Amino acid sequence: DALGPTLCIGEILAEIVATTTGNGFLEPVPMIGPYPSGAPAIFIDQAGRIGGAAAMVGAVGDDDFGRVNIARLKRDGVDVSGIHTDPTLPTGTAFVRYRPDGARDFVFNMWTSAAGALAWTDAVDAVCTRAGHLHVMGTLLGHQTIWEMTERAATMIKARGGTISLDPNLRKELRGDPQTGSRFAQMVGMADLLLPSGDELYLAADLPPEAGEEAALARLFDLGVKEVAIKRGADGATCALPDGSRIHGAAFAVTELDPTGAGDCFGGAYVACRRLGMPVQQALTYANAAGARNVTFRGPMEGAGTRTELNDFISNTKRLA
Ligand code: ATP
Ligand code: MG
Repeated sequence: DALGPTLCIGEILAEIVATTTGNGFLEPVPMIGPYPSGAPAIFIDQAGRIGGAAAMVGAVGDDDFGRVNIARLKRDGVDVSGIHTDPTLPTGTAFVRYRPDGARDFVFNMWTSAAGALAWTDAVDAVCTRAGHLHVMGTLLGHQTIWEMTERAATMIKARGGTISLDPNLRKELRGDPQTGSRFAQMVGMADLLLPSGDELYLAADLPPEAGEEAALARLFDLGVKEVAIKRGADGATCALPDGSRIHGAAFAVTELDPTGAGDCFGGAYVACRRLGMPVQQALTYANAAGARNVTFRGPMEGAGTRTELNDFISNTKRLA
């Protein structure tokens, strides 16, 4: 962390969750919220909460949904100087209802809210000048302004000896889109650390899944990636290094209450722990714990844990084989 905080750029949302399962919002349903949310915000909140230096770039409205988010990030140690408060647009929102099978229905107001009014301001420039690491969300590569800001921040941070991580979070169809595909390839080429789940390892390596994990990893290491942490849901996670080591961390046995945010909490904890100098195995333990603990809380980042909370969780929770 000596070089400066871990930075994340993207949407900040207020999330409102239906308290009953069912199909969508076609009738009145009981809901609870607002919860601070947005994948980049979840990531950076967990990074700050575990004790890493962290900073967020995003935009909220001049309303309580924005204030709830800023207060949470501040409380958890995140530098919020790069968060713009838009004077006219409201804070972005996500209404979520889980179906009985675990699928989700959403009503989003994201890019038509303050979240979409992000711009390169002096405050953004200042925080990018200080940052030592950028975490990139693959979901945002299709957004023109966020792409331009991400590319600019990544170039600045790399130039001063900083590092980049990438959560591909990309669907196959987007990888096939010429512009998003080439942006994605550019970010894979700049990334030091990748955090894929499911088929994303193969999307990043631009190989079919039939090629197998080792071939995909070899391709990524050829491209200059230095570390790959593969998220496997209830099967835990594996870190692969170019020297051939494959280090596995078992998942923790939990009862899932709200799966939103697992991947982002895993990532925030993993990046923060590695940047704090922890060895891979210890970072995996904290990251698996952060992902698992978060799914036991209702609300997207309500279960993000401090170091003490995660230590307690690790001591008191069985690990899956
Ligand atoms: P998301 O579903 O949030 O997009 P992801 O697909 O990027 O996440 P996952 O592998 O689902 O990533 O979750 C990240 C980590 O969180 C896992 O590696 C695991 O450690 C933990 N985790 C997620 N779900 C569970 C679960 N049901 N039980 C135990 N651990 C879990
Ligand atoms: Mg998942």
